[in-house]
Amino acid sequence: MEWLEKEEAEIAYLKSRKSYREEEREQNRMLFIMLGIFAFVAFTFMFNTDPLQAYEERFFPDTWNCKKCGYENYEGIFTCGVCGTAK
Ligand SMILES: [Zn+2]
Repeated sequence: MEWLEKEEAEIAYLKSRKSYREEEREQNRMLFIMLGIFAFVAFTFMFNTDPLQAYEERFFPDTWNCKKCGYENYEGIFTCGVCGTAK
């Protein structure tokens, strides 16, 4: 019955390989989470403000309304996007 022992050894080996792969996948997931946190912190340092304020300024910038036509323009733009009136 030597073949059976060989077969069992091979099955055990394959099972250990599978669990190894699952472990590796879990480690990759942790690495992605850590990279995400790192990116968030790096972003904060780039803008030198608290993270929520930095995100707000980046993705929801302040706006101003045109005196003439009332169109809402972003803070960084100095003339109205519709009628060209200065801020
Ligand atoms: Zn305007």
